[in-house]
Amino acid sequence: MFRNFKLVPRVIFGRGCFAQLDDILSSRRSNAEDWVVFVLDDVFSGAALASRIPLQENDLLLYVNVDEEPKTGYVDQLTLEVKTARSHLPCAVVGIGGGSTMDLAKAISLMLTNPGSATQYQGWDLIQHPAVYHAAVPTLSGTGAEVSRTTVLTGPEKKLGINSDYTVFDQVVLDPELTAGVPKDQYFYTGMDCYIHCVESLAGTYLNEFSKAYGEKSLELCRQVFLDDHPDAADKLMMASFFGGMSIAYSQVGACHALSYGLSYLLGIHHGVGCCITFDALEEYYPEGVKEFRFMMQKTGVDIPRNVTKGLDDAQMDIMITVALGLAPLWENCLGKDWKTIMTRDKARSLFQKM
Ligand code: NAD
Ligand code: ZN
Repeated sequence: MFRNFKLVPRVIFGRGCFAQLDDILSSRRSNAEDWVVFVLDDVFSGAALASRIPLQENDLLLYVNVDEEPKTGYVDQLTLEVKTARSHLPCAVVGIGGGSTMDLAKAISLMLTNPGSATQYQGWDLIQHPAVYHAAVPTLSGTGAEVSRTTVLTGPEKKLGINSDYTVFDQVVLDPELTAGVPKDQYFYTGMDCYIHCVESLAGTYLNEFSKAYGEKSLELCRQVFLDDHPDAADKLMMASFFGGMSIAYSQVGACHALSYGLSYLLGIHHGVGCCITFDALEEYYPEGVKEFRFMMQKTGVDIPRNVTKGLDDAQMDIMITVALGLAPLWENCLGKDWKTIMTRDKARSLFQKM
């Protein structure tokens, strides 16, 4: 079966295009009762960006905290806040921030129209009703969350996305100026998330010309950003992120992402840095990519946390291994149909021990 892939229908790109957000949203506001929820990363509290949000009288500015990556309980709490703020649903939800904030905005827009808790929808195509119109304004480039059909959530039992066509944003606003204040380490880690998406997609058994076209271009842009110090680096990384997301949407990620989910589930390590820690241990599977990654890291002057699995007991190690090996499509993409005979629990353990 070929996947009939849902795309983001509207994209605006360019330095300063954030100023057009009001215009874009005006098409959603059909009467005086219509209101918009702006989901804003609280790192921007008191910052210039917060004052540039085109808030109208009935709108709601909802600050979210992403010190921890999105949890289903937090999504439920935020959804309730939005539902009880007015007597009727908003006409739009706009997520402004990095991958975590964009994922929260996606999840809120879905949960406003689907009953129960977000935990019920972690999986594939479990969403029954279309979401409230939702738009993304990334302020950090790399995850590809602006283009993907998932919102990655940690629930009480699993870390798994709400994957559905309804999850896909209706509008994306790509303004590279908004990434100006990202700390250097974070810029690198999330940028490497994109680089790794491409390496895993391009080395995978699921590869096809669609994924290859986007993946190769994205990889080229990552190199211009992290090896050449290009003056338009912010613009390039924003497009690399978008293209990297397009590449994996029609293929899959691989070993690095599977193992990083284990780290993140047990130790709460964030996605970007988690992928960097894991990728550094995967020379055996992605020799060229890992070599180039280390060179980029050295050039950028950033390092990764080391010995993060040191001191973990067997039970903890087992949890990480179970989470990682649960991601069958990622392993099949990396190692082929016989992946289970290659990536045994002992092999996974030995990889975790290197991190
Ligand atoms: P993030 O959104 O978690 O943000 C990381 C840090 O950067 C936070 O402290 C945040 O406040 C800060 N930040 C963001 N923009 C900033 C700016 N302009 N200036 C200063 N600080 C800024 O980081 P991320 O790496 O973009 O996203 C990671 C999340 O994305 C994870 O939760 C991961 O699961 C998810 N993810 C989702 C997808 C998807 O397809 N939906 C894909 C990959 C990752
Ligand atoms: Zn990723």
